[in-house]
Amino acid sequence: MAAEKIIVAGEGIVVHRFGIPGSRPKVYLQGALHADEVSATVALAELVGLLRVADAAGQVRGEIIVVPHCNPLGAKQFILGRHSGRFSLDGRNFNRAFPHVGERVVEHLKRLCPDQRAADDALRIGAGILDSLTRVGTPVERLQAALMGLAWGSDVIVDVHADMEATLHLYTSEKSWPVFQPLARRLDVPVVILADKSADSPFDEAQGDAWSMINAHLGESIDRPAFRPAACTLELRGLSDVTPELAASDGRALRDFLVQLGAVAGTGESAVGSAPLVTALDAVEVVKSTMTGVLIHLKPLGVKVTAGECVARLYDPFEPEAKASWQDVVAGTDGVIFARWHQRMIQAGMAVVKIAGSDGPLFDRPARLLD
Ligand SMILES: [Zn+2]
Repeated sequence: MAAEKIIVAGEGIVVHRFGIPGSRPKVYLQGALHADEVSATVALAELVGLLRVADAAGQVRGEIIVVPHCNPLGAKQFILGRHSGRFSLDGRNFNRAFPHVGERVVEHLKRLCPDQRAADDALRIGAGILDSLTRVGTPVERLQAALMGLAWGSDVIVDVHADMEATLHLYTSEKSWPVFQPLARRLDVPVVILADKSADSPFDEAQGDAWSMINAHLGESIDRPAFRPAACTLELRGLSDVTPELAASDGRALRDFLVQLGAVAGTGESAVGSAPLVTALDAVEVVKSTMTGVLIHLKPLGVKVTAGECVARLYDPFEPEAKASWQDVVAGTDGVIFARWHQRMIQAGMAVVKIAGSDGPLFDRPARLLD
């Protein structure tokens, strides 16, 4: 076990490493890429404590890397007494536009002689490219390259976030879902959302995209199986759901997931929850505010609603006519409310609630994550 502080873009990040480098499975977990989503940080700190115990007992079998808070740039962004952790101050979402390294790895591989082409070469070349990217570009770009470098070559990647106000939920791809099913059950996640392409290169998709490109170049055979990392974004409830009890139970569930992966020896201790609602991203309705004003939520998190049901009300305090002051916010689909906006002054066009429907697709274009 080793905890080290690495310096990226002039800031320190604490990285906890367990197991012998190169052991399989290699699992990477990071928290608070959106720097205010610290339910992730305290849960991963609990996990580190549990892994130290497992390590002392000689139970770590794979290689495990844990970064409880991976965004020191966002962590210090206080503006007028409020913390702002989702975007850098130049307006860039920290979880978008991770570097596309697949193409560059393939270019390098083509320059090698054909009988040397293997996933090991791709791993080494990709690590070198990502390392060089930590020294160029903006601080956010350097941070993103460093985080991708830490996760590079992992079999399993868990990027832990939180929504504004939310129940537990998990985003992953159709292909990765079987890997994360035990994690969802250990945490008793009620909603799982599947999408192969959800946004502009978020962290959890960037590695898979790179390896799709590399695998297409390397080809696949029985003696040369393709390397396919499984990745997910785990949303540990809402921004304010930071308690010692939740952190402890989340930490245990994450440790038990590592046991199920074979990265840690032993048996799981956390209870196995019920089966989640599994839906596609294009069956998720993001109900938007139709005006700027006061927001009053009418439905608690986790409840089922039907299309046409009023989920919130908006109030325009500058409208003199009482009748015109109020607007209903109505669900457009049957489903479960899994996330809500956390502030009560809201602007027109902002997301009021998110509903996991099961009827999708709700759109005639591919669904995307909101910025
Ligand atoms: Zn987030």
